[in-house]
Amino acid sequence: RAEITTPEIISEESVVELSLRPQRLAEFIGQEKVKGNLRIAIAAAIARKEPLDHTLFHGPPGLGKTTLAELIARELSVNIHTTSGPAIEKPGDLVGKLTNMREGDILFIDEIHRLRPVIEEFLYPAMEDYKIDIRLSEGPKAQTITMPIERFTLVGATTRFGMLTSPMRARFGIVERLNYYPEDALELIVRRTADVLKVPCDAGGAAEIARRSRGTPRIANRLLRRVRDYAEVEAGGAISKEVADLALRRLDVDEFGLDDMDARVLRCIIEKFDGGPVGISTIAAAVGEDGGTIEEVYEPFLVQHGFLQRTPRGRMATSQAYRHFGYEPPAGGAN
Ligand code: ADP
Repeated sequence: RAEITTPEIISEESVVELSLRPQRLAEFIGQEKVKGNLRIAIAAAIARKEPLDHTLFHGPPGLGKTTLAELIARELSVNIHTTSGPAIEKPGDLVGKLTNMREGDILFIDEIHRLRPVIEEFLYPAMEDYKIDIRLSEGPKAQTITMPIERFTLVGATTRFGMLTSPMRARFGIVERLNYYPEDALELIVRRTADVLKVPCDAGGAAEIARRSRGTPRIANRLLRRVRDYAEVEAGGAISKEVADLALRRLDVDEFGLDDMDARVLRCIIEKFDGGPVGISTIAAAVGEDGGTIEEVYEPFLVQHGFLQRTPRGRMATSQAYRHFGYEPPAGGAN
């Protein structure tokens, strides 16, 4: 079950994901505020014939950060060069990319919070003055030359805004947070993907999948593909509410779309700490996940959907969380 609902990319799926990506900003469903801001910034950049300001997208995995970076490139008719924080080991790894870019091109860095400090230092003059310092040799007396590069746009994506250094944050002119999608938007995404995959899916079927997608397009698309398999083998090919429900039950997908880590966090608070309040670092140690990740990646969904409460003394499981896992809420305790 963990595999189906975790929003992180599962690599063999990335190829399928590529073909599902919207091709124009107008096809990108939801996130209206973000889209509106981007449209204006893009139009202004085009009118001034200038590169777009450096742009940062942050928010939980699977909500469309990479997709937006690609859509921006397409709207601006520029090339996009993609890399990720952990993939860049030394400044030299970026030199080729940066020197080959044409004016206005986009350098997309996923997981930008995982850049090493030496890489950040190297990027600052590139972002600010469009120049890079290249060391010609190793050692303390190494010579450096400064090289101009074309004016480009850095687009960064991160699930962990809090882990980005403040000098890095300060260098982005556009900073947008992506939020979980409401069910009606996810329903549209499911229907769009169903069209792309050419699988008949009615409104009820799409709604059932949307409801269990944890507010996340990547999960919605993944569930749709699993339900399609079931529909094709067991139900004549079309996806209705009944078919979706049966398929998702068989796959053990949580009714509210909670993923494995969500469930572990909530169960831990209920089973080990009597429902809380309990501090984030204690929860983190108990479930074996980093506290910051719980705070920025998992908690927002749980709070938004009424499973978890933040109090000054720590986190508490709500009665909804108790009932979800088949427990009786404590009298007068959780609410
Ligand atoms: P992130 O970079 O935030 O982890 P991605 O951009 O890789 O997320 O999106 C994950 C998947 O969800 C992609 O296959 C993409 O096509 C789909 N997707 C994300 N947001 C939307 C959206 N608003 N409309 C349609 N599809 C979307």
